[in-house]
Amino acid sequence: MAEKKPERQQSSSWGAQVEKNLRVAFDALPNEVPVMLFTEKGGNDALNMAARELLKSFSKISSKVVFSEFDLKSEEAGKRNVTSGPTLIFDPDRYSIRYLGVPYGEEARTLVGMMLLIGFRTGNMSEQALKVIKRIGSRREIKVFVSPTCPYCPEQAINAVKTAIERPDIASVEIIDIQSNQETANRYSAFSVPQVFANDVLIAHGAQAEELFALSLDKLEQQTVFIPETDAELVETDVVIVGGGPAGLAAGIYTVRSGLRTAVIERGPLGGQVATTPIVENYPGFARVPGKTLVDILVSHALEYVQIFQGEEVVEIQSGPRIEVRTSRRRFTARALILATGANYKRLGVPGEMNFMGRGVSYCATCDGPLFKNKKVIVVGGGNSAVTEALHLYNIGVQTVLVHRRNTLRAQEHLAKNIFSNNIEVLWDTEVLEIRGKERVAEVVLQNKRTGEVYPFPVQGVFVAIGYEPSVDLAKALGVELSPEGFIKHDSHHRTNIPGIYSAGDVEGGYKQIVTAMGQGTEAALSVFEDLAHPYWTSEQGRQSGVARM
Ligand code: NAP
Repeated sequence: MAEKKPERQQSSSWGAQVEKNLRVAFDALPNEVPVMLFTEKGGNDALNMAARELLKSFSKISSKVVFSEFDLKSEEAGKRNVTSGPTLIFDPDRYSIRYLGVPYGEEARTLVGMMLLIGFRTGNMSEQALKVIKRIGSRREIKVFVSPTCPYCPEQAINAVKTAIERPDIASVEIIDIQSNQETANRYSAFSVPQVFANDVLIAHGAQAEELFALSLDKLEQQTVFIPETDAELVETDVVIVGGGPAGLAAGIYTVRSGLRTAVIERGPLGGQVATTPIVENYPGFARVPGKTLVDILVSHALEYVQIFQGEEVVEIQSGPRIEVRTSRRRFTARALILATGANYKRLGVPGEMNFMGRGVSYCATCDGPLFKNKKVIVVGGGNSAVTEALHLYNIGVQTVLVHRRNTLRAQEHLAKNIFSNNIEVLWDTEVLEIRGKERVAEVVLQNKRTGEVYPFPVQGVFVAIGYEPSVDLAKALGVELSPEGFIKHDSHHRTNIPGIYSAGDVEGGYKQIVTAMGQGTEAALSVFEDLAHPYWTSEQGRQSGVARM
């Protein structure tokens, strides 16, 4: 049995092993890693010394790390606009990457990782992340706030470094240690790490997979779901689902679970109306949940099964034994198709509405509400949407007035109660006749239906929340029959009059709840599975009727 070595000897041999591993890794680099250190004489002395010793030890380990030191008052510091010490600048002739502070503790992982990437001159990003990074068309000034005690920070800092290496033409990175740069951290309210700002916009809080980091950087807002993209010109699959709302995504999960390859095509944001609902009430399992959160959970789940094609508009569908779907990007062929196209915002149809859309008229309080903080707006409608949106606007500091054409609300009682308990003004029996203004909305013309009085009402915003109309353009073009109310006509299996074409969700009418849409999507998926195994259209009954049973 081997004798246990004294502890001191063990740790020094461990240190020697780490040093040896680092030497092997750095010596193998195809390129040198120039590192400039800027220090301030007399200021931050302990930190300056720590940074100096750290870099010296790396340059001793391998000649590939080329270390030079400059005073903050030097010409070099002025040329490179360095104003605080210690600041480290890496390979400045190639990249714009700097570290403000000393990368010790957990941050040593950032230092080693970034120097290796710089030595290889590659970001070594995944194909999907690189695709997103490559399409960013304008400058990104990235600030990553980190701390030496944060185990999640190196991952996020390295994501930023990878970006700066892959896109030196648009990306600059500052990794900022909040402990030695408290003033900057205060300015950005970066009180927890890691946080990433791009062009001074907070784009990430916490560590992210590099694909999500890339997407957040591209969109300049926090992203929580990444959908892989493909360049395929033709996608041959079993089921195509048009629409990525609750009905379409639930259908996709169930078709794939039934063994059918499935593609979901969505032209806009995933989640449909739910994505822009500030708070969803009573989705079973959640008394209250932000719509976007619910959508993110749903999309992440669906992505475990289906392939999602987002941002593609379906332009043509041809039915037949093999259904053909043409989108703005590619072609799909499938054995069955589910139309889960949902519904569009209903318009008021009054003069000025279209004219001022995006200039004071909005259909989405979650999206546009913050622009109206401290301003006066009306919300039109008396259903759950109008009440939810009015409460959301009120809660974010918008002066909100609800305008309803009746004297009672259609919204659920517990929601309506909140309107009254918050003293949100309600104009009962009132209709909007016109929206007026110059550049932007300045007033609405209202009519009290009981007294007949017509009067101008000064507001800066009009939020229309009067329900939805089914999106049936594709169904119509395909020859799918509609009900007298304009929804897709379907049987209890969600079959339409065209064999192989099904419907689900709000486009069918009915209760229009998230859970009912999901239930309809699930039922449609299971019908597709059963029908593809035993096609009803080849059965005697199917042949006799020629179409799906209604
Ligand atoms: P809705 O329930 O159909 O209500 C539409 C409201 O707008 C009604 O009060 C209606 O007035 C009014 N309206 C319709 N056309 C109008 C016009 N031209 N001018 C003025 N007012 C007009 O629609 P929704 O509120 O959008 O809700 C749609 C579905 O989503 C509902 O099933 C709802 O329960 C659901 N939803 C649920 C939640 C949740 O948190 N669980 C949140 C939002 C929506 P009248 O009352 O006079 O008809």
